[in-house]
Amino acid sequence: MVPMKIQSPVKGEWSFMNPPGHHPDAKDFVAVNDKGAPYNRFKILRHLIYSLSVSETYAWEKEVFSPFEGVVLKVENTVSDRRELNLFRDLFTGLVLAPRKGKSDIGYFLGNYVVLESLEGVFALFAHLRQGSVVVSEGDNIEGRELLGQVGNSGNTIQPHLHFQLMKESDLSQAIPIPFVLESCQVIKNGVWKSESSKLPRNYERFRV
Ligand SMILES: [Zn+2]
Repeated sequence: MVPMKIQSPVKGEWSFMNPPGHHPDAKDFVAVNDKGAPYNRFKILRHLIYSLSVSETYAWEKEVFSPFEGVVLKVENTVSDRRELNLFRDLFTGLVLAPRKGKSDIGYFLGNYVVLESLEGVFALFAHLRQGSVVVSEGDNIEGRELLGQVGNSGNTIQPHLHFQLMKESDLSQAIPIPFVLESCQVIKNGVWKSESSKLPRNYERFRV
């Protein structure tokens, strides 16, 4: 399948941090600093054994944009965010408890989310948005690159990030992610930013858009 070419749904510096078992064509966008880390590395120990506030991560409240024209099909905006992160607890919840939920409880996994349908009938899913941040409503026409909401920490997550995927169908319990590429982005190679077009950065590669 030819990957669909889209504009990036976020701006700034990011890295795809897909956890093991994650579908390869869906991407977890995590905002990073110049070391490629999602928060200041001196806070790692606190994240592991005690608590890190979501506002200490770079992804929290980053704006999320529509990557193409279309119509808003579905919006969930009322799920509370888990505002204190603890890596051990969150991994246990995400890897041990969540799989027992079964696939039917979509909201449990996605938290707050938007589904956008393109003019060609491709569906985009934006998940784990911040409670109350979604600024579009079901049925809204999206003319281009418009603000949809903000990155949050709702649903099944271990840290604030945007889960983004494209699909051929809108039923979220059935849909399979399909490949996409970014129209343009810059990837850092040996300390030098390199422009790329119609490509997708590799997982854990630092890129800016
Ligand atoms: Zn994901």
